[in-house]
Amino acid sequence: MTREETLALLAWQNEAGADICLDETPVDRFAESRRDGPETLKRELRQPAQAPASRDTLFPAMAPIAQMPGEAGAVKTAKEIAAAAASMDALREALLAFDGCGLKKTAKNLVFADGNPEARIMFVGEAPGREEDIQGKPFVGRAGKLLDKMLTSIGLDRTKVYIANTVPWRPPGNRDPSAIEIETCLPFIRRQIALCAPDVLVTMGNAATKTLLQTSEGILRARGKWRTIDIEGKTIKVIPTLHPAYLLRSPAQKKLSWRDFIAIKKELENGKTE
Ligand code: URA
Repeated sequence: MTREETLALLAWQNEAGADICLDETPVDRFAESRRDGPETLKRELRQPAQAPASRDTLFPAMAPIAQMPGEAGAVKTAKEIAAAAASMDALREALLAFDGCGLKKTAKNLVFADGNPEARIMFVGEAPGREEDIQGKPFVGRAGKLLDKMLTSIGLDRTKVYIANTVPWRPPGNRDPSAIEIETCLPFIRRQIALCAPDVLVTMGNAATKTLLQTSEGILRARGKWRTIDIEGKTIKVIPTLHPAYLLRSPAQKKLSWRDFIAIKKELENGKTE
């Protein structure tokens, strides 16, 4: 393969979302499929039935995530160190030192927050994407540009809001964060909300809404309805809304988020909910 062909292949893979390496050494999937061809399958079918293969045998590349230093232990540690962080800076330092979440291994940077930690309003998204991972800041890619426009439409900007994510490291290839990754990071985002102590918390999209409100209700039903959550003894008003990345894919739904943003503006102006 020529250099040009290799670069074209890499660019194409990058476009398709395969933009990071998960292993030190390349894996020849073609050789694997030749090995697992019809003859191998027939031979295996003739073998006596065996115990079902475990997730780690089926997906060896994923094993490091499943074998994080005791998942329950990581959640416990996360709770302890998040609770001990007395300021945003201390919380950021705690996350930089925390090794209990597998996402950190493949991320380039911690994406802690952007905006004003003393703002009256805090926005929480799902997880950093490629641009956010590179810059170490949330919502700086296409979805972020749309979020900025939505903020401007109700007289806000990043000096008046605080923005963070449910998980602060990019999931490889922009996959959804797993349940254990979300659970491990939950004490950190809850502490971040407690330290910001906003009058209004906006959860953007399914992941942030389900995680922070502990609900199974989908975002299209949950959006626009005021709720409350209790964090460290303080009751915080929450409004779920659609994720800007979803709005980029489904622009007709912008009318729904416009309604949510009007409700947010009113709440900030009057301290009243609809
Ligand atoms: N989507 C998110 O949920 N968070 C980001 O920071 C960027 C895109």
